[in-house]
Amino acid sequence: MVGKGPSSRIEKGYYQTMVSAHSYPTWQNNSGHRFDEAEIEAATRVLRSGHLSRVDGTEAAALEDEFAARFGVAHAAAGSSGSAVLHMAVAALDLNPGDEVICPPITDFGSVLGVLAQGLVPVFADLDPLTGCMTPETIEAQITPQTKAVMLVHLFGHAAYVEAVVDLCAPRGIKVIEDCAQAYLTETPSGCLVGAIGDIGCFSLQQSKHITTGDGGLAMTNDADLARRMRLFADKGWPRDTGERTHLFLGLNYRITDLVAAVGRVQLAKLDAVVADRRRVVRELVAQLDMPLITSPTDFEHDTFWLTPFVIADDAPFTNHEFCAALAGTGVPVVPGYLQRSVNQTPVFTELRTFGDSGWPLTSPPAARVIDYANLDLPVTADLIGRSLICLWANENWSADDIATAAAAMNAAYQEVSGG
Ligand SMILES: *Cc1c(COP(=O)(O)O)cnc(C)c1O
Repeated sequence: MVGKGPSSRIEKGYYQTMVSAHSYPTWQNNSGHRFDEAEIEAATRVLRSGHLSRVDGTEAAALEDEFAARFGVAHAAAGSSGSAVLHMAVAALDLNPGDEVICPPITDFGSVLGVLAQGLVPVFADLDPLTGCMTPETIEAQITPQTKAVMLVHLFGHAAYVEAVVDLCAPRGIKVIEDCAQAYLTETPSGCLVGAIGDIGCFSLQQSKHITTGDGGLAMTNDADLARRMRLFADKGWPRDTGERTHLFLGLNYRITDLVAAVGRVQLAKLDAVVADRRRVVRELVAQLDMPLITSPTDFEHDTFWLTPFVIADDAPFTNHEFCAALAGTGVPVVPGYLQRSVNQTPVFTELRTFGDSGWPLTSPPAARVIDYANLDLPVTADLIGRSLICLWANENWSADDIATAAAAMNAAYQEVSGG
């Protein structure tokens, strides 16, 4: 195992780095991951073969098959990152510039970049105050005749009401893409795995995710046409299976490599244990917390805790920034609000920094209307980022000592800021 590193890199940009009293296992290195001889053997096998590309290779195809089998879906398509497979998913819908896609304002930018790149218009819906996910109600409020898809993010590993969202969208011909980058093996309350309920589910293998290859991603669907379009989009629109060197539509090169895929196969085999241990760590941590004005996670059966979210009550006399500042120097890896600004508040949207100075596709045309992204009415989003949401980077490798030390530090910080 690589030694535990300080978690200060995570906090950089939020708080001044201080000397940590305790080093927690972190996703930045193997202290918070599970790489061992099996990944080394897989990478070595591919290197020794001298065939590192997925084209005419076997590893990426095997990863796709194993991924589809684990999730019980018909098709999986790998790509070079989570953002890449999300872009593949959006592109596979074959929409027209100016069509609208409803997106959450608190998510990784990878959720929206494919939307913009395809000339589509992100429309932001507000969030549930406890889960940070869009709800059927907030989504319905944003539906227009231009709405063609919903980008549903299962934030922090909690299922985002996906069955109800599909019930809302399917009769209206609106497609649902599930962004499961943070939600490996997350289940809905009825026990269905997220990712296979909407039209396409997308996963990331980036360094911080439950399982990782550094970068990489997988999209899955039960629709053979969508699967084929995703594969073509990731490979220049080139239908290699027909033997013809032509390009059926505009695609990119988003191919995963066989070298990466071989490592991904080993990581995938460890996923169930990773999720089980993560649920146990968070359950044990929450059991030791005494923070009455903060809502802690409760669903250790269905949630998978990419980040562990805590939400401060409306009437509490402190904010997420104050709580996290009180933890500075303890090494407990917390982030107030997850984001520093909502996605719609980034220059991409507020200054229309897309393609040169055109503002395309957020201009009209192709958009049916010009959205004032800087001044959207998203009160829950603003409250989550600015006041109520605390995110903890716990992971499956935390020991009983890590858990007890973090719980004690959090309880002490709570006492300090609540004046208790
Ligand atoms: C990580 C992440 C992405 C993007 O994945 P990359 O592999 O980093 O491109 C997209 N959406 C969410 C919700 C994520 O957490």
